[in-house]
Amino acid sequence: MSNSGFIPYGKQSISEDDIAAVVDVLKSDFLTQGPVVTAFEDAIANKVGAQYAVAANSATSALHLACLALGVTTGDRVWTSPNTFIASANCARYCGAEVDFVDIDPQTYNLCAVQLAKKLQQAKRQKRLPKVVIPVHFAGQSCDMQAIHALAKEYGFAIIEDASHAIGSTYQGQPVGNGRFSDICVFSFHPVKIITSGEGGMAVTNHAPLAQHMRTHAQQGTTKSPNELTQQPGDWYYEQHTLGFNYRMTELQAALGLSQLARLDAFIEQRHAQFQHYQTQLKDFPITLPHQAPDNYSALHLFPILLPKTSKAARKLVFDILRQAGIGTQVHYIPVHTQPYYQALGFSQGHCPIAEDYYARTLSLPLYSELNETQQNRVALLLKHALITSRVMSA
Ligand SMILES: *Cc1c(COP(=O)(O)O)cnc(C)c1O
Repeated sequence: MSNSGFIPYGKQSISEDDIAAVVDVLKSDFLTQGPVVTAFEDAIANKVGAQYAVAANSATSALHLACLALGVTTGDRVWTSPNTFIASANCARYCGAEVDFVDIDPQTYNLCAVQLAKKLQQAKRQKRLPKVVIPVHFAGQSCDMQAIHALAKEYGFAIIEDASHAIGSTYQGQPVGNGRFSDICVFSFHPVKIITSGEGGMAVTNHAPLAQHMRTHAQQGTTKSPNELTQQPGDWYYEQHTLGFNYRMTELQAALGLSQLARLDAFIEQRHAQFQHYQTQLKDFPITLPHQAPDNYSALHLFPILLPKTSKAARKLVFDILRQAGIGTQVHYIPVHTQPYYQALGFSQGHCPIAEDYYARTLSLPLYSELNETQQNRVALLLKHALITSRVMSA
């Protein structure tokens, strides 16, 4: 058994083709705002079955653009999952909106459609309905989008899917991102995600005005489209129509992302093979393995395990033992509403008890395309040792 090298929880896979694609851009005329960003946008739109794609320098920026395009502003309410990266909530705060959190489903760890329905009933009575709900496809598995979409129709809110974990996933046999059950869907290309552009994100939609709004706001609120200009004095001319940001993706990022996209399906197949191997290795361990709903094909961004209810204190011990042995386990996620920033806004422990209980007992095991079976066996062996040492399991 190889004992060398730290095994992170997630890691990019860079090929010679990826490197060549980036070098080609370095030798070209454009480092930013050139043809490769457009090609990457077209390729993602095509892959996920969306009509429009707008590239951004991160998924965080793309989420902000999506909120702006849907008109989120001061006084509005936006709801998301507590079991996510902070960016899913912060995007609404950038717009001055109030954020609230809908507790998770105890099996999928996704924003729970039943809890959402209950919370909406109550919010309707209080006249505090959300303008936008942001379901997060945790670990790559789609939320129950059919149910969430039906609630959107009933209560009149818009939907932004945070699909940062879910490029290449399908739901009910259709690609996540095709807009069947949402207004805008956002992907992340951070290096730990399924494919990477270094940093980068993309918002996809089937609504031309939303796409146009996001594009304008990603480039300082400016336009050069002849049909939008108030005058056309010459080719140098552009107009600022609104206050935007510099959220542009570079050609270098797009070249890497486009090259990686060619291997997306292969990456996900590798992750599924690893998932199966963990299932076999860990099947007799007293832990809960990630549940896969039958109508989902997940990109499998993460492999979160859950320790038994009786062993809350054990999580830190297991985490520390694995880390000391060179296994880069991580915890996804600290419930967003328990962050000091959100506590200062009035949230407290107990707001989302299921997400809090899940957080206290979860650990993500390494999962990434280049992880091999020898490394997975080592993870399993060390996890067994850690579970025995922490008395979750008897020797
Ligand atoms: C990674 C991630 C983001 C942010 O992505 P960036 O590209 O790093 O800005 C947002 N939401 C979720 C769920 C993520 O995992």
